[in-house]
Amino acid sequence: MSEKFERSILNIDRLVEVLPSEERARLRRIFDVSTATGELLAPKSMYSWIEAHFGSVEAVLRQRIVKITNLVTWESSLFNELRARRPIEVLEGGELEEIIRQSEGDPFCKPLLGTAEDTFGRVEGRYSITASNIAKCDGFHGLVIFDHHNPLVFTEEEFYDWVETALVWAERAHDQNEEFKYPFLLWNCLWRGAASIVHGHLQMTLSCEMHYAKIECLRRAALAYRSSHGRNYFGDLCRVHRALGLAHENRGVHLLAYLTPVREKEALIISERLDDGFKDSTFKALRCFRDRLGVTSFNLAIYMPPLAEAEEDWSGFPVIARLVDRGHYMTKMADIGAMELYAASVIASDPFRVIEALAAELDKV
Ligand SMILES: [Zn+2]
Repeated sequence: MSEKFERSILNIDRLVEVLPSEERARLRRIFDVSTATGELLAPKSMYSWIEAHFGSVEAVLRQRIVKITNLVTWESSLFNELRARRPIEVLEGGELEEIIRQSEGDPFCKPLLGTAEDTFGRVEGRYSITASNIAKCDGFHGLVIFDHHNPLVFTEEEFYDWVETALVWAERAHDQNEEFKYPFLLWNCLWRGAASIVHGHLQMTLSCEMHYAKIECLRRAALAYRSSHGRNYFGDLCRVHRALGLAHENRGVHLLAYLTPVREKEALIISERLDDGFKDSTFKALRCFRDRLGVTSFNLAIYMPPLAEAEEDWSGFPVIARLVDRGHYMTKMADIGAMELYAASVIASDPFRVIEALAAELDKV
């Protein structure tokens, strides 16, 4: 193939066509890719507005839409040319810093006075302390409260400490009631990330009976894939992304700019275990989002197998971090609507730009 295509999600069908046949077959086992062109007629009176917002009238009259569906997990994303062509905006953080500073003095600034503790006590990290969530999502629901207020200020050492403190908390909770063995770790950052308190904190829950539906669904999907194709789904998912140039490896851990992101810029970090390589990769992905992609509000979720033996089969299920941008802090509009809740995610960011940023951050000396 002498013809060169721009490495963009909008050219995904052409990029798939030129893959070696084995890689193409693997991709088609997991993803369905289709494209459509939407056309419209615009009155001349709209032209200047269109040019100001979208660059040219032609770009709006005929628009390319790419639909990607994960046939294993049934996640689906719609990429629109106009949205994808917009540059990723990096906004100044000065004003946000001031807004965050004004919220100092919240209950998490003095956790021993302002927060509850679990019946098994608090876990103290080097840069954090745990608390018991006041309004629980599950039988065990705790917080790792950061030593400092601003959630966008974090170092690698601090991030390691927060994750390790959360894991010690999960073990303590599990020791208190062994029926609770399904851990979930999350970080909602700032208002658009659904954090009710600005002060930096992770959350962790422990569930019983079975893992949370979305995680259990993924486990079952991966098992079904293994029984149909005799292969590990997560291994193939990484290979597919690598073949397209949407993956980067760091210390044996795979970082993917996901082909069916749930919201903007979604990155997956996939590791055999929750080790330093995983923490390092996740930290660097977070730093990349903050420093290179201008992300101020995000959600981080960490999927992992149960803490103790379970009846169901967790073999081959890795540790997975999912990281997603939730939009600019000044934006009033919600970033999910009926389309995302009930149909498919509409995505503006191009995974090819996301992987470039992740690779640059990970290769930074
Ligand atoms: Zn605070």
